[in-house]
Amino acid sequence: MAKVATLDDLFLDELRDLYDAEKQLTKALPKMAKAASSDELRTAFESHLEETQNQVGRLDQVFEMLGEKATGKKCAAMTGLIKEGDEIVSSTDDSSVRDAGLIAAAQKVEHYEMSGYGSARTHAQILGHVEAVSLLEETLNEEKQADRKLNSIAESVVNEDAMSMAGNTNGAKTRRGAGPKTRSAGSTSRE
Ligand code: ZN
Ligand code: FE
Ligand code: FE
Ligand code: FE
Repeated sequence: MAKVATLDDLFLDELRDLYDAEKQLTKALPKMAKAASSDELRTAFESHLEETQNQVGRLDQVFEMLGEKATGKKCAAMTGLIKEGDEIVSSTDDSSVRDAGLIAAAQKVEHYEMSGYGSARTHAQILGHVEAVSLLEETLNEEKQADRKLNSIAESVVNEDAMSMAGNTNGAKTRRGAGPKTRSAGSTSRE
């Protein structure tokens, strides 16, 4: 890896990492959509695939503004997160349990992206790359929205199904372990 000496170098390094991460996701999301059994989840993955393609385009624009070549640098973290998602798929049957696992894996991806774009946005701000700030923020907001969407699918359908599949009828009050950690504000308890 080239030496990262300045904040400019670091910013560029972050962009290259995000670029590779997004490109890996354009290949992984169709597989995740295929593995989903809930229609709502499949649609969510498909629409996030479209957004992801636009996000690659926004990074292309940022590279162009900086006068830098649009190239990625292998994002090892995304490779690992995608691998974990694959493992969930291969260790579950086609079911709502698999869907719950897919959502958990996808939310880890969104959280990783949110932190990557958050840092890159902050560094763009410090460096005075005003247009880059707004492009990165646009993507950051899409990632946040994708995360919220996954959360609501987990709460509304998938986890309840997964719970009943586990035969967990009287223990339905314990939601622990079945889903993502974060709950959207104002969610209602159905038990
Ligand atoms: Zn600069
Ligand atoms: Fe993304
Ligand atoms: Fe990375
Ligand atoms: Fe995303």
